[in-house]
Amino acid sequence: DNTLHIVGGGLAGSEAAWQAATAGIDVVIHEMRPLVGTFAHQTGNLAEMVCSNSFRSDDSEQNAVGLLHWEMRQANGLIMEMADAHRLPAGGALAVDREAFSNAVTERLKHHPKITVEVSEITSLPENGHWIFATGPLTSDALGAEILAATGTQALAFFDAIAPIVHADSVDMSRAWFQSRYDKGETEEERTAYLNCPMDRDQYEAFIDALLAAEKTEFREGETAGYFDGCLPIEVMAERGRETLRHGPMKPVGLTNPHAPDIKPHAVVQLRRDNKLGTLYNIVGFQTKMKYGAQKSVFTMIPGLENARFARLGGIHRNTFLNSPTLLDRELRLHSHPHIRFAGQVTGVEGYVESAAMGLLAGRLAAADLQGRALPPVPETTATGALLTHITGGAEARTFQPMNVNFGLFPPVTGLKGGRRGRRDRYKAYTDRAKADWGHWLSHG
Ligand code: FAD
Repeated sequence: DNTLHIVGGGLAGSEAAWQAATAGIDVVIHEMRPLVGTFAHQTGNLAEMVCSNSFRSDDSEQNAVGLLHWEMRQANGLIMEMADAHRLPAGGALAVDREAFSNAVTERLKHHPKITVEVSEITSLPENGHWIFATGPLTSDALGAEILAATGTQALAFFDAIAPIVHADSVDMSRAWFQSRYDKGETEEERTAYLNCPMDRDQYEAFIDALLAAEKTEFREGETAGYFDGCLPIEVMAERGRETLRHGPMKPVGLTNPHAPDIKPHAVVQLRRDNKLGTLYNIVGFQTKMKYGAQKSVFTMIPGLENARFARLGGIHRNTFLNSPTLLDRELRLHSHPHIRFAGQVTGVEGYVESAAMGLLAGRLAAADLQGRALPPVPETTATGALLTHITGGAEARTFQPMNVNFGLFPPVTGLKGGRRGRRDRYKAYTDRAKADWGHWLSHG
């Protein structure tokens, strides 16, 4: 039987269904709502936007998420077509009328001759057939338990605990330095695995004051604030005592500041390499529920990070996601069950647009498989390909947390000016390269 079954009709599942059906494949979408609900969804519609009504920046020359919009439009994406049709004025951002948007996606899919929509909760990973699981950050409990049993406890998370991620080239290296604690590590890669930012006593005290005063986000009702000691928000650690951080993630031991070798730092903030390219570093132990604006003002107090650019800010949310770097191949298939693909937020991307993009890819890859067509690898120079590469191997598996699309995921463009002045040219070079390579890839699929 050549039917493609898609579990979950959210942003990713809807796009996957559209792409596969457009290629001529028979599709069944299994969506549990409105029979079974989640704490965030309000309707029985497909592609419901659960929170903000924004697809973020629509600038495809200077912004990685805008580039993702562009790539999906080129690929005849349904989510983008409907977002454009129900666009609201919002400056450079793509905001949509959420109800009209999800109604339109639902109508289009329900009336497609190749698509059937079934209201049912799928609670296990099937032994055979062709499947895409796109059950999202709020994957139902029964299915979550099944996936956990199939993949192992280390491989499925029910919360994210995201520390902010910084672009390495925005760290001030006249203050920071590379060193792993006690100089552990034999290879150059291991020796550059950590960046260190030193604080004296006054800086540390001011930092703790700012953390305590910062505006925080509360957990939503039903989201359960069940975080564990291993991933306490940094501001909660600070509330437990002014010295807690200095004895925890900010302990100054095993490190020597080459800029001031005779002065022992009072505390040290460590950043750990976040991708194989070495373009991104996460601030170790700094998962947080501070509001985004507060995060920027507090984290830029850290010596060396005064001008840091953030690839993503921190957060803690209810979020079911796989450890994709260890579980999925380059075509989003489970290594252990290759007839099953995953797509959307459950693969460890973050955001409406990123989720839809991984749905688009899964739908195309599954359709090609079913039709016996071989597609060339998705170019990692494109926004879609850079995200795919990150989740399926570019990211460090041990510390894998959900990721937004950003230029730090792209293989660097060489031969251009650095710094703030060169940034516009650099981003334009990324997006020009991506557009050419995406066009080329689509012409082969
Ligand atoms: P979803 O859109 O959630 O789709 C998954 C679908 O699978 C759902 O319809 C669900 O009912 C269904 N399902 C689950 N389990 C089963 C099952 N066992 N059988 C059948 N169906 C099942 N991103 C942003 O860009 N902006 C935001 O403002 C934003 N806010 C968010 C707020 C919350 C509370 C959450 C949880 C996430 C938020 N996200 C946001 C992140 C994410 O981008 C969205 O959740 C997005 O909808 C993910 O797309 P998806 O298709 O992977 O999952």
